Amino acid sequence: MACFCFLVDQKRKIRRSKPAAGTCSRCRSGASVAEMITQTRFCYVPFYCKSWKAIMCTFCGAILKSYR
Ligand SMILES: [Zn+2]
Repeated sequence: MACFCFLVDQKRKIRRSKPAAGTCSRCRSGASVAEMITQTRFCYVPFYCKSWKAIMCTFCGAILKSYR
């Protein structure tokens, strides 16, 4: 059972994004509102999917704020 955790992985995808007001605190470029999907997979088979929204930087990808 020691290898169990290696079979589970999470993938984060951006479904769509649009420009938002505000700037990134790290690189000062523009932020956008992104609709994300987190997919949890077991042995490469997705078994859990969660969609959420976050304000993220379009340049460095930092998540400035997340809400759901
Ligand atoms: Zn940034």
